[in-house]
Amino acid sequence: MGEIVYLALGSNLGDREAHLALARARLDALPATRVLAASPVEETPPIGPAGQGPYLNQMLRVETTLPAEALLDACQAIEGEAGRDRAASPRWGARTLDVDVVLYGTRRITTPRLLVPHPELANRDFWQRELAALDVDWSRAMRDATEAP
Ligand code: ATP
Ligand code: CA
Ligand code: CA
Repeated sequence: MGEIVYLALGSNLGDREAHLALARARLDALPATRVLAASPVEETPPIGPAGQGPYLNQMLRVETTLPAEALLDACQAIEGEAGRDRAASPRWGARTLDVDVVLYGTRRITTPRLLVPHPELANRDFWQRELAALDVDWSRAMRDATEAP
């Protein structure tokens, strides 16, 4: 049995549905990792620099034995496979695929590469709705997250 992890998918460039589908398939194919459930796909206005199209967003419940940083590496590799070019796009710029680690079990993680629970969870009502659709109480999850011993 692994950790139950919630991953937020977002796409606002190219074939958005296909990018979400690629992410679901590639995550499910990772070693010791299964996609257990997915929220409805929701369209949201872009955050950040103007001139971008709307996002499609979706939250996934995933079970994995991958450590959090290895999971982040895998998420970033999948973003690359979807054609995301980090060098070409500013932070919050348009992207083919964004995969964020929103919750990782009941862990609180504070490393240079990874902040979990994701610090924007309290500010993104669409993530809160998507988690609720997966029967997760986001405020309780944020409150209950604790540093590993
Ligand atoms: P936001 O985090 O506000 O949604 P973003 O997703 O656009 O912004 P990115 O450019 O995709 O930001 O990622 C920047 C860096 O954020 C990544 O290289 C990663 O190391 C770091 N990061 C910190 N915490 C997390 C997390 N919980 N999930 C994903 N990336 C994270
Ligand atoms: Ca993001
Ligand atoms: Ca991201």
